[in-house]
Amino acid sequence: MDLGYAGRVAVVTGGTSGIGLATARLLLGEGARVAICGRDGARLDAAQAALDGGDRLLAMRCDVLDKDQVAAFAQAVAGWGGGVLDLLVNNAGQGRVSTFAATTDEDWRQELELKFFSQVLPIRAFKPLLDRAAAPAIVGVNSLLALQPEPHMVCTSAARAGVQSLLKSLSHEFAPHIRVNSILLGLVDSGQWQRRFAVRPDTTQDRATWYGNLARQKGIPLARLGEPEEPARAILFLGSPAASYITGASLEVSGGLSRGI
Ligand code: NDP
Repeated sequence: MDLGYAGRVAVVTGGTSGIGLATARLLLGEGARVAICGRDGARLDAAQAALDGGDRLLAMRCDVLDKDQVAAFAQAVAGWGGGVLDLLVNNAGQGRVSTFAATTDEDWRQELELKFFSQVLPIRAFKPLLDRAAAPAIVGVNSLLALQPEPHMVCTSAARAGVQSLLKSLSHEFAPHIRVNSILLGLVDSGQWQRRFAVRPDTTQDRATWYGNLARQKGIPLARLGEPEEPARAILFLGSPAASYITGASLEVSGGLSRGI
């Protein structure tokens, strides 16, 4: 199936690691022009070198929670991409592990700001460019926690549910021109889990054992964590003209972790 990305312009926030990096790589492979951002300069340089996209790749430092930086990123993309944007992938972010007892008011504020404004600021800044594209799309990277909250990730779960509501509303407000969809992730082997592995209490456990135990503990029917390319493929599908009649939808990419029907 031709996903129709050749010559199209895409933005992937948090495109320097994990799922964002895999998404950028697949988009470049499909012939798209791709702009990525992240906060850390060294990670950005490494991603730029690894992606090797030549003039089809724009890599820029930008904190998606900083309105001025997001505006500057959008301006750079407008100049580089010919004033249009076909796909915005809002992927930047991370989860917070904490129970209600361990979550301070300030933690709540930070988490709600991260989850909401990592969607709101890029959508506002890139909307004029999306408006000028022929068949534009937004894909929000979200988590299954939105539907299946975990007490040990209380504020992340609550914020994820709110983001799902936001994206659903936008799929109506922006219709019929811009499609808005989301993916709901389970556990994907990327930066977040690699950082948690690095600080595992039992350092005698090797990588395969630790990840295997994690998949078992979580009861993942496919018995493993996902690879970043697996959600990336779902993002490419939802963002492409191949999904032209899909908006306001969420696609679960979790190895079957959800218990809902
Ligand atoms: P990674 O840590 O591998 O990648 C996160 C990316 O986001 C990096 O490029 C990071 O770069 C960037 N980033 C983080 N904060 C900001 C910011 N404020 N502004 C700009 N860029 C930022 O994680 P994943 O690939 O796993 O995560 C991708 C998304 O998927 C995240 O939103 C995450 O919460 C979500 N998710 C992941 C799950 C998983 O199991 N992996 C499960 C559920 C959701 P830098 O730090 O340099 O800014």
